[in-house]
Amino acid sequence: MDMDPGIICFQHCGLKIFCFSLPDKCPLCKTDFTSGGLNLLPFRVPYPFVRASQHPCAVVIKPTVGDFLNDYYNSMDLHIGVTTSSGIIVEFDQCGLRRHSNPLWEQCLLLGQVPISWREHWDLTLLRVCKQNCWNQKSYDEKLFNCYTFVLTFLKELEYDQMSIAARCRNIFCEEYIVPRTTIAGKYISLYRKLKKDVCFVENM
Ligand SMILES: [Zn+2]
Repeated sequence: MDMDPGIICFQHCGLKIFCFSLPDKCPLCKTDFTSGGLNLLPFRVPYPFVRASQHPCAVVIKPTVGDFLNDYYNSMDLHIGVTTSSGIIVEFDQCGLRRHSNPLWEQCLLLGQVPISWREHWDLTLLRVCKQNCWNQKSYDEKLFNCYTFVLTFLKELEYDQMSIAARCRNIFCEEYIVPRTTIAGKYISLYRKLKKDVCFVENM
């Protein structure tokens, strides 16, 4: 199942107009588009989300509850996890450490992924970190010992370029890897929500 709702953008009257399907008339000047001859060059707005299981050896993030398009409001509500080389999701939360292929990870943001040559090292490092006996329900703390603690500990152990350097500090990792992606996603989410209410959305320049 394709989760992309398919937002289309075209230009008319010197403005950008967004919609789910091309209207018969320009919502601004009412020019009829059905007669042809108009070169609108509509393009599909890139869908920013991915299905975690299709991205092996990756760091992924999703809302703690629900999905991005309908439920996400701010970065406080996010939950982070990693995938193995076979696309299994590994996450740490109030239930402890879990490995699974959960359908709830079908609308995620991809924060980083290693090249194929790193996959074996990734799996071995992940296995080693998972074996540390601190990742259990008892030691979980919503603020101090949570999903970020697990992923950042793993990334530090991995020693992979900038991603591992950034992982030394929660704030730096957030600034460099999370904020840029949630900013792009935020724009897409607000467009999607506007188009759920109105047929078209005209971008103010
Ligand atoms: Zn127009």
